[in-house]
Amino acid sequence: MTALIPQASPGSAITERRPEYDAAITRVLDSGRYILGDEVELFETEFASYVGTDHAIGVASGTDAVELALRAVGVAAGDAVFTVSLTAIATIAAIVRLGATPILVEIDGETCTMDPQRLADAIRGHRSGPRPAAVVPVHLYGAMADMPAITQVAASAGLRVVEDCAQAHGAACAGSSAGAWGDAAAFSFYPTKNLSAIGDGGAVTTNAPDVAVSVKKMREYGWRTRQVSEQHGVNSRLDEIQAAVLRVGLRYLDTDNARRIEIAARYDAGLGDSLVKTPHRRDDAAHVFHQYVVRAEHRENLRAWCSDGGVGTAVHYPVPAHRQPGYRDMIRVASDLKATEQVAAEVVSLPIFPQLTPDQVSRVIEVVREWRPT
Ligand SMILES: *Cc1c(COP(=O)(O)O)cnc(C)c1O
Repeated sequence: MTALIPQASPGSAITERRPEYDAAITRVLDSGRYILGDEVELFETEFASYVGTDHAIGVASGTDAVELALRAVGVAAGDAVFTVSLTAIATIAAIVRLGATPILVEIDGETCTMDPQRLADAIRGHRSGPRPAAVVPVHLYGAMADMPAITQVAASAGLRVVEDCAQAHGAACAGSSAGAWGDAAAFSFYPTKNLSAIGDGGAVTTNAPDVAVSVKKMREYGWRTRQVSEQHGVNSRLDEIQAAVLRVGLRYLDTDNARRIEIAARYDAGLGDSLVKTPHRRDDAAHVFHQYVVRAEHRENLRAWCSDGGVGTAVHYPVPAHRQPGYRDMIRVASDLKATEQVAAEVVSLPIFPQLTPDQVSRVIEVVREWRPT
């Protein structure tokens, strides 16, 4: 029995660069400052410059980043926010927590991201209920949603745009990075993401100074300065250890994304004539392969086959948001979500992380190629 090839492996990057992580953590231990200090400020400057925005504000998680970004661009309790059902439930959780209603829009069956035409239909069809306030496109699996079209639809309807970039650090489309398109954007640094902490972390990016100031206040009790709460806030601070660790990771983000892209190219070539459908690529976009997601009828049969062959797989996401018991009563669907449901029934995420070896990639290809539904 060969060792299992894991689907994801956050520890591998730490192992590869252990001395740099040790030095970063030791620096924080020695500093005597553990929350919102120099490391956070430096990370914010470096991350804003990476994304190409004027501001980045560190917060405690990607979920908080979505919520605080929405609040900062003016979304309030009672508003409607258009997003998709095929996403991490975190996207929906954030919208619900601020008291808004998620309205779930159909995806494009090829790209698996929000269909701009269906967004336009959803906005036009929304005649009663919560006031439409914003759109949250999700850049799923490392591929950007169709931002040129989505921003145009949103602008003509007077809606704000908050990008969910939790899976798209370093992705781009039409010449601009994920996180630089919307009025604001949310990133997660959960340990499996392309840029990862060793715990929870997140960030909001924006070019709007007022949005940046508002997120900064809200992440710490609405404080303008210490002890002066100028607005309603929360505790959603990024800590110094996570920021120091993220600064190491950020130096390697482009290298790591390049490795992911190389692995994806090998999968594309090796699986082109297999029984699974390889992921769609857009010509004008840089995909950073947070996940390498194939599609297959008889998905569970493929997963069992892979598991028997020593290949770990995952499913992102088996149950779309509108079918989740904890949320289905808090959302609305803009239309039938047939493409969403079909994609959710067929997707399988193969192993992908920067330290996956060429031999492991070959083995994954071999196992998937041999699969015949039984
Ligand atoms: C991971 C993720 C989030 C949430 O991030 P957390 O840091 O886990 O709160 C939000 N949206 C998407 C699409 C994600 O993948």
